[in-house]
Amino acid sequence: MNQRKKIIAANWKMYKNLAEANDFFTFLIEKLPKTKAEILIAPSFTSLWHAFETTREHPVEIIAQNMHQEEKGAYTGEVSAAMLKSVGIQRVILGHSERREYFGETDTLLKAKVNTALQNELKVIFCIGEKLEQRKANTHFELVKNQLQNALFELNKSDWKHIVIAYEPVWAIGTGETASPQQAQEMHQFIRETIAGAYGSDTADAVSILYGGSVKPDNAPALFSQPDIDGGLVGGASLEVDSFIDIIKAV
Ligand code: PEP
Repeated sequence: MNQRKKIIAANWKMYKNLAEANDFFTFLIEKLPKTKAEILIAPSFTSLWHAFETTREHPVEIIAQNMHQEEKGAYTGEVSAAMLKSVGIQRVILGHSERREYFGETDTLLKAKVNTALQNELKVIFCIGEKLEQRKANTHFELVKNQLQNALFELNKSDWKHIVIAYEPVWAIGTGETASPQQAQEMHQFIRETIAGAYGSDTADAVSILYGGSVKPDNAPALFSQPDIDGGLVGGASLEVDSFIDIIKAV
């Protein structure tokens, strides 16, 4: 058994207003099962403070879905690392495929975001994963390796304590199609070996690597039983308390 942290993280994307988020937390707190996993929830920016206040006495960590790479400035509509810290946030998701696809976030930009997050003592869940055409062309390993190298491989070894990787094949996000446990394990092992190649196996063995892409209560047990899958980043199925709880129970 490895000693890596098990993590179940909810990414709510642009769903749930303040009242809806509040209802979710009321039920979640009531029903939260005992677990050794860390439970993370990323609501929208407008719910962060309230969510943080509501859950602060409970084993649930509220995290952010994104942040800007600059410390401050004339960037209308953006949110800085320090702003997240000021409402109790300790961790941010960076590099989600929707940010890459719809908001043009490149590896270079993401490298800057990761650096800013770490400088501000924010931990990072860094998302990587291939599109369907890359898997079909059998370039998915190379792509994932590049995503890791370009954004993360100038970090210091000690920075890796603050990094969690989420492998999310784009073809499986919100599509109802999931990577098979074997496909996911194969890629997670590759990611760990790639990190080991750059930083040593002590570092790689300590990094939690989450799977994301249509995780549901029925497919979660087989995915989470794989040796290199340390939990999940969950979109759609994290919006309902009951399915989220069933996923937590599967880890
Ligand atoms: C996600 O948004 O990170 C995700 C994995 O979504 P879904 O679970 O809906 O595929």
